[in-house]
Amino acid sequence: MRLANKTAWITGGNAGIGLATARLFVAEGAKVLITGRNKATLEAAAKELGPSALAIVADATDIAANDAALKQAVAKFGKLDVVFANAGIAGPSPVGGTTLEAFENVIRTNLTSVFFTVQSALPHLNDNASIILNGSVISVLGIPGQSAYAAAKAGVRAMARSMASELSPRGIRINVVSPGAIRTAIWGPAVATPEAEKAFEKRIALSTPLGRLGEPDQVARTVLFLASDDASHVQAQELFVDGGATASP
Ligand code: NDP
Repeated sequence: MRLANKTAWITGGNAGIGLATARLFVAEGAKVLITGRNKATLEAAAKELGPSALAIVADATDIAANDAALKQAVAKFGKLDVVFANAGIAGPSPVGGTTLEAFENVIRTNLTSVFFTVQSALPHLNDNASIILNGSVISVLGIPGQSAYAAAKAGVRAMARSMASELSPRGIRINVVSPGAIRTAIWGPAVATPEAEKAFEKRIALSTPLGRLGEPDQVARTVLFLASDDASHVQAQELFVDGGATASP
């Protein structure tokens, strides 16, 4: 029970990596607030997670909605010990064909919202809390057509370092978990049918030294490590959960 008597907030906790993390946190004794935009999947997640979870509709880019959700959660579960700023979207952004609106939407969801998630959480955080931000291998790999997403996730890394210095006096830790390709709906059509998913897995295996697609639970276990006292001296670091993809030539 590595998170006994702890309260956590997971943005995007109704699907993929966020939901896998919520399951693990609850199993480790935490009370968990999950937020997202989709009411139906939030309700399904709340039902599955049981009384240790509170699911509230809140767009990660909507500061007022997040503040209201937090107020409710803190009243019910107590102050926060863990924040996983996980909500994110994919968004191709080829230089030759991306509008300002599309570019800004990726930055707003994947970078700006992460800053304001931490800002909203701050007044509700216990000292020695742990904040984990979701990054991506795409911030270091030169994948074509990913300028906005890559910039957002590189920004997450840079932001974590600055915030860690700012918040260290309260003992608050901030680290980044950066997944490689993980089996979630963020890949859209690439995983929409069993045939497409098989082809996708094959393609990812070729560029991943461990030769496979990652699973949400594998990321969640790393988030759990960073959230727990096991990582009590780990500050301002980025942990890649990518099967070696960032190390491959
Ligand atoms: P999913 O699409 O399965 O989950 C994305 C989650 O983010 C959903 O819960 C979604 O909920 C939520 N979300 C998206 N936009 C918003 C928003 N504006 N406000 C609130 N919630 C939002 O994808 P993953 O689990 O894969 O993605 C989680 C994180 O992991 C993202 O930050 C992504 O960039 C990162 N990542 C994923 C990788 C992968 O291969 N899967 C690789 C590297 C990084 P809802 O739709 O209800 O809003």
